[in-house]
Amino acid sequence: MSKVIVIFSGGQDSTTCLGWAKNRYNDITAVSFFYGQNHDVELQQARKIAGALEVPLRVIDISFFGSMVHSALVGEGDVNAPHDDRPDLPASFVPNRNALFILLAHSLAQTLKAEILVTGVCQTDYSGYPDCRQDFIDAIRRALNLGSASNINIETPLMNLTKAQTFQLAKEEGVLDLVLKESHTCYSGNDKMNNWGRGCGECPACRLRAKGFAEYKSQSGDLSCQ
Ligand SMILES: [Zn+2]
Repeated sequence: MSKVIVIFSGGQDSTTCLGWAKNRYNDITAVSFFYGQNHDVELQQARKIAGALEVPLRVIDISFFGSMVHSALVGEGDVNAPHDDRPDLPASFVPNRNALFILLAHSLAQTLKAEILVTGVCQTDYSGYPDCRQDFIDAIRRALNLGSASNINIETPLMNLTKAQTFQLAKEEGVLDLVLKESHTCYSGNDKMNNWGRGCGECPACRLRAKGFAEYKSQSGDLSCQ
């Protein structure tokens, strides 16, 4: 029986991944990171969602990290603007965030004797983050396994899905309702309910999610979520 760790933020993508993992594996631990993000609403929602799916959740405090990096998610700044240091990337980019999350989850996997990490990174409708691409995941998997003489796999069920297809997958895995009612992805920490879920509707994450949901509804004919 495989032991699995799901990197879990409480957002749409990782909630879908948690549902996906629940339907495939019996022994799952979800892990969330507090990295100094401006809005702790996502961690509150992460606790609710993990509780609803009856998955144990470990929240790991790495709040020192937020003071080391520039990002609109951990400080002041316009989430709709380019990044302070990297004008080719969005302001919400957090340098090496995914590398750090995967590194720590890989350490925990060795402690818990887990064979699989699951992360909701996606290179299709992605938000312009280079650490969400398949080649990055392949490289860090190889580096961490080499550096620890281990053989832990990293599964990325959303890697090549559009946002609309991620809604479809959430439906298939039985977690669409949780995604729409509880998951939180908004860069502004806004908790307003919309037909596509919680959020301000203005930030890039909300716009991507709202557009994906509209496409999902038109493609699937799913009229159950109004
Ligand atoms: Zn928003």
